[in-house]
Amino acid sequence: MLVTTSQGLLPFIESLPDAVIIANPDHKIVLVNSRAGEMFGYPVDALQGSDLKMLIPEHHQDAHKRNVKGYFRGPHARPMGAGKRFSGLHADGTEVPVDIMINAIVLDGARVAMALVRDVTYQRELEERLTLESLTDELTGFYNRKHFKAQLKAQFSAFVRSGMPASVVMFDFDNFKVINDQYGHAGGDKVLVDTGKLILEELRPLDVACRVGGEEFAIILPNTKLQDAVTFAERIRRCIENVEFRLDGAAFHATITVGVASFTSTDKSYDSLMKRADNALYAGKAAGRNCVISQDSLT
Ligand code: GH3
Ligand code: MG
Ligand code: MG
Repeated sequence: MLVTTSQGLLPFIESLPDAVIIANPDHKIVLVNSRAGEMFGYPVDALQGSDLKMLIPEHHQDAHKRNVKGYFRGPHARPMGAGKRFSGLHADGTEVPVDIMINAIVLDGARVAMALVRDVTYQRELEERLTLESLTDELTGFYNRKHFKAQLKAQFSAFVRSGMPASVVMFDFDNFKVINDQYGHAGGDKVLVDTGKLILEELRPLDVACRVGGEEFAIILPNTKLQDAVTFAERIRRCIENVEFRLDGAAFHATITVGVASFTSTDKSYDSLMKRADNALYAGKAAGRNCVISQDSLT
């Protein structure tokens, strides 16, 4: 264990890029470097001698105090709370996402805990953005096929566990190739983007809108029975039919064919529902397009 004095340690901790906060078993701050002052928005003097809780968000203060006591029963160098996400409390009341490494040392003859605190705001934001980007479609802002499957799987578990119904409304544009041919790829893209905006206005907060293919969409409606999903499907079919898409002075119409399916007691996985929604959609194409077909009408 490192045995040192405040005077001896200070130049070393001042040279570190991370905040260093040294506290005793009574949860009092005994020494900090100036980076700690900058990170938390206090003069160094205001931190030294204060209770450590001034740097900890309220919801975590009690647990932290217990953990500090616990740490001194078997102190060794380790990251704090393996796998957990921590944040510190800035003087302005905001939370600073941090990673913390703790070690025990003897400072001026007393055992203390030294925390190296790294501001990970940038990493956490990047992580969140990458996660979101990996699940969403750039053009419409809707979720992608990967997220659609994951959400439907979760809905299936809820259905098996508690019988909560869920439905899927799947639709594909009719003769989209003709739209691309007549108005260019930009015309087709405009239809997809505008459709995204129109659909969003029709959704409840829990509904999950996904773009599952080129011009194919699927909306998961949790806690919704087949008949209500059919009513919703008919509403969006009519909404698309009636809207005028505009691009560079041109105005045109488009239609969609919609398949609707719900979980049934014989379903073994979410796959069965996806297949029924797909079959209903293709039955609608065969029936002449611009219509809603539910799994009930499949033979
Ligand atoms: P159907 O009524 O049978 O669905 O006819 P369709 O012409 O829509 O045929 P299909 O669904 O097979 O074709 C989809 C077309 O959509 C083909 C593809 O070039 C076009 N497409 C796919 N993704 C995009 C996209 O992101 N932007 C644009 N503009 N077009 C796309
Ligand atoms: Mg199509
Ligand atoms: Mg298609």
